[in-house]
Amino acid sequence: MATDTLNPTPLSPRAWLHPTPRGLYCVPGDFYIDPAVAVPRAIITHGHGDHARPGHRQALATPETLAIMRARFQDMPDTQQQALGYGESVRIGEVEVSLVPAGHILGSAQVVLEHQGQRIVVSGDFKRRPDPTCPAFEPVPCDVFITEATFALPVFHHPSDSGEIGKLLRSLQTFPERTHLVGVYALGKCQRVIKLLRAAGYDKRIWLHGGLASLCTLYQQHGIDFGDIALVSDAVLETFKGAIVLCPPSAMADRWSRRFFDPIPAMASGWMSVRARARQRGAELPLIISDHADWSELTQTLQDVGAPKVWVTHGREEALVHYARSIGIEAEALHLTGRDEEDES
Ligand SMILES: [Zn+2]
Ligand SMILES: [Zn+2]
Repeated sequence: MATDTLNPTPLSPRAWLHPTPRGLYCVPGDFYIDPAVAVPRAIITHGHGDHARPGHRQALATPETLAIMRARFQDMPDTQQQALGYGESVRIGEVEVSLVPAGHILGSAQVVLEHQGQRIVVSGDFKRRPDPTCPAFEPVPCDVFITEATFALPVFHHPSDSGEIGKLLRSLQTFPERTHLVGVYALGKCQRVIKLLRAAGYDKRIWLHGGLASLCTLYQQHGIDFGDIALVSDAVLETFKGAIVLCPPSAMADRWSRRFFDPIPAMASGWMSVRARARQRGAELPLIISDHADWSELTQTLQDVGAPKVWVTHGREEALVHYARSIGIEAEALHLTGRDEEDES
């Protein structure tokens, strides 16, 4: 009937993209985004373990994210891999898919989906401040924006990165004999801390725990210059007095760290603004360096993308849902399973 074509019922975004127990599923494209389990076809926003999992029959991601996944998952010989660079697009089923920088870690992308005149953006994890290890987040105007909410409380305000790195360098001046042992996650945080130290003018050798080596090499292969870095295990006659040593948070408390004389334990994480967490980590020197947006970055992003609908996931959904509604956005929490608040565990 003619009335149908004149007045078609608008397609509900939830009808073509919705959460399932396996993850966020796109019906007209028959694929999942960052699924929690192995699926026939997945689009992966970035390489952190709670987003990128092994065993998919097909995986589409940026070339950098696929390289990270191969490094972590024994080359993924059984996964058919499709690389899509930033700004490129591909049609999957009845959906136009493109990837846009998310500013979170190397290769991190927002997934832009277009179907029947509607555009949904799945941000994955993101931050808005500059990070020399990846291109900056690009706001994409859309009908529905799916945002993370890791630090979605007004109390979360991440201080400047250079100020936090300054704390580490000042401590080094104050205690020139002591090893500064900095706990960092292997993917993203480690590389960012090295670059921040270099940007602050620190040009001495930075020592690494072996568990950080392979991803640093991968970043170097993608053109990121770290200056003089070396493995603790390769050191000969080195006292590590006054040295900066980066290690996975788990290594700070184990036998490995006993080789250092009177070390100062530091930890770089967005969670270091929470005193109890810093204590729990044994961090005498907590450095608030986050790869996730803080409250003002999250709210600014909602303004920038201008989406009339926002779906909130992955953290403290309620506060951001409340904020979005207060500025006239139709907002709801999207309960997805299988996400970690710390990215790596
Ligand atoms: Zn992440
Ligand atoms: Zn995450």
